[in-house]
Amino acid sequence: MTKFNYNMIAIGAGSGGLVSTFIASAVKAKVALIEKHKMGGDCLNTGCVPSKALISSAKAVQMLKKHTLYGLKNVSYEVDFSLTMERVQDIIAKVEPHDSVARYFSLGVECHIGKAMIRSPHEVEVNGQVLTTKNIVVATGARPFVPPIPGLEDVQFSHSGNIWDLRKQPKHLAVIGGGPIGLELAQAFRRLGSEVTIINLDPGILPREDLDMVQFIRESFENDGIKLLDETTIESIEKRGDSSRIHYSREDEKQFLDVDHILVAVGRIPNSSGFGLENLGVELNKNKTIKVDKFLRSSIPNIYACGDVAGPYQFTHMAGHQAWYATVNALFSPLKKVCDRLFRSSLVYLYGSGTGTGRTE
Ligand SMILES: Cc1cc2nc3c(=O)[nH]c(=O)nc-3n(C[C@H](O)[C@H](O)[C@H](O)COP(=O)(O)OP(=O)(O)OC[C@H]3O[C@@H](n4cnc5c(N)ncnc54)[C@H](O)[C@@H]3O)c2cc1C
Repeated sequence: MTKFNYNMIAIGAGSGGLVSTFIASAVKAKVALIEKHKMGGDCLNTGCVPSKALISSAKAVQMLKKHTLYGLKNVSYEVDFSLTMERVQDIIAKVEPHDSVARYFSLGVECHIGKAMIRSPHEVEVNGQVLTTKNIVVATGARPFVPPIPGLEDVQFSHSGNIWDLRKQPKHLAVIGGGPIGLELAQAFRRLGSEVTIINLDPGILPREDLDMVQFIRESFENDGIKLLDETTIESIEKRGDSSRIHYSREDEKQFLDVDHILVAVGRIPNSSGFGLENLGVELNKNKTIKVDKFLRSSIPNIYACGDVAGPYQFTHMAGHQAWYATVNALFSPLKKVCDRLFRSSLVYLYGSGTGTGRTE
């Protein structure tokens, strides 16, 4: 194929795909963005924005609880959980225009809402139309992993993708998982008034963080009244009317816990299959992220990947950072190639200054 509809197509309109196409449009490339669900992806709709909005309500409650420290007297307040969750949606709505089809269209990006299927290294199908492209940037993100716990599917549970739909406050929330997403939501729900128990398989929480920080967080959680059951294996979950009984074993003893809601937060798996990569033989890592080289190129040279689907760090700023490198490499290779790995530590520089350069090869 010598002529293509586009210089680049990005699949997924989360942080990775948005930054990719923004950069491509800035250098006047012919670029398309395909999104099957909501513009803005995880960060806007189910990740950073809603979680930080909820945390800010929880923080307000915490400050009100400690109002005497601020020189305030006779403060009274009541948490309206439903209103708090509606506020989260209002904040998403305020940010939405920034990531919208209208904005990207005005930047020169052709947006398609529909599921992308990669038919060949140069052909992507969406809504029955085959678009041809010189390069593809895969930015399809990740989704919550739901572990195969017997009985889980029969009870009321949420994960980070749908907890935002809750309007009735759980009286007692069990959070399964001791990573950052589970913990930040555990703290927020506790501060908003739910009883919260964290159940974690591992001996500690936040395995990637510094031990002194972990200790500080543990103490803060204890002060808030959050219970932590670590080194705990959930055997099964049993539906009992409107509540769930979690059967678990801890310190060689079988015990149970009754809760009225469960949040599953045991990690997020990359969206790397079901849209054509496997038919092309694109190589994956053991954890299902797309195997990329230091130029963020997959095993097929004109297919790049960035963000949660590439890993190794599942953060918005990481997705944006990688998107910059993937896009520059896709559009300017072989004239110029920038290496992502040498510059991971330069995020502050890159984002602080609004510009960034990588080593060229
Ligand atoms: C509760 C929570 C809190 C978080 N808080 C933070 C935080 O404070 N700071 C931080 O840095 N990160 C945070 N994150 C992580 C952050 O949200 C992700 O790392 C980031 O959004 C990843 O961006 P992405 O572009 O790789 O993927 P996503 O944002 O997931 O975007 C991928 C998009 O691809 C679309 N897609 C998938 N397959 C196809 C297909 N075949 N065709 C078309 N479209 C497709 C999906 O619908 C999705 O919109 C949080 C995550 C969660 C869950």
